[in-house]
Amino acid sequence: MEIKLVPVDEIPAKIIQELEESLSGLNIDLKIMEQISIPESFNRFRRQHSVERIFDSLDPKKYKNAILLTKEDIYDRNTGYVFHAGEIGGPGIVSYFRLRPSFYREKINFDLLIIRIKKEIIHVIGHIIGLEECQEPCVMGRSSSIGSIDKKSEHFCKNCKIKMSTMGIELE
Ligand SMILES: [Zn+2]
Ligand SMILES: [Zn+2]
Repeated sequence: MEIKLVPVDEIPAKIIQELEESLSGLNIDLKIMEQISIPESFNRFRRQHSVERIFDSLDPKKYKNAILLTKEDIYDRNTGYVFHAGEIGGPGIVSYFRLRPSFYREKINFDLLIIRIKKEIIHVIGHIIGLEECQEPCVMGRSSSIGSIDKKSEHFCKNCKIKMSTMGIELE
């Protein structure tokens, strides 16, 4: 299945390259799209982007199976913030604003950042397929805190794999 990765504004090329490499074993056809900008989704009082407004601004046909990657902080409806959001068939979004170790006053760790972004992207691919939040250690485990993201695995559990196979999808 084809998944489009859409950088929102400038994303360091090193991050995109690492993701391309680390997602290559997943059995998906990953296409890196041109970067886009969505200034209208910015809530200047919260200093965050609204996921609802981002998704509303996107053409659903063009952004079918698309995952946006942003460094900005995002929120969805009444939440304080979210790490990701995703709808069946897309689009989905991952924010790495709160995935950076430096956000928690820890020292910069590029490898850890990539692992976290990778898990969130695989999780959002799950949402695009139609999977819902599952239990840790499944990659579909909830992303309620950075600790829960670090605890979960990069892989789908047996139940999620069974659900996927009934839809004719096989991902690692
Ligand atoms: Zn989720
Ligand atoms: Zn699962």
